[in-house]
Amino acid sequence: MDVTTARERLEEMLAELDRSIGVLQGDPVAVREHSAADAGSDLTDADRAQAMLTVATTQRQAIMEALKRIDEGLYGRCVDCGSPVPEGRLEARPEAARCVQCQGKRERRR
Ligand SMILES: [Zn+2]
Repeated sequence: MDVTTARERLEEMLAELDRSIGVLQGDPVAVREHSAADAGSDLTDADRAQAMLTVATTQRQAIMEALKRIDEGLYGRCVDCGSPVPEGRLEARPEAARCVQCQGKRERRR
């Protein structure tokens, strides 16, 4: 995948995420009132919205970093070992910062 395509896809993803984040942050009162009416569930709508917001914010950060790597000419290289990140992986996740091996190591440490 060339960097122009990568940048376009990342910018689309970013716009999409910003919309979701806006909706999630948009109306906390409505979320609270709704969850009070639905108090039977363990996880309230507010908790769910918060969890989604955390995921969206984390992904947004990863996309911002990927765009920065494009600017720096480092896109497509693993940030840990410097090996090229496989094309298929970038197709699936254009924001991927690490090769499969380094990502695996990182997730095992957690
Ligand atoms: Zn690596």
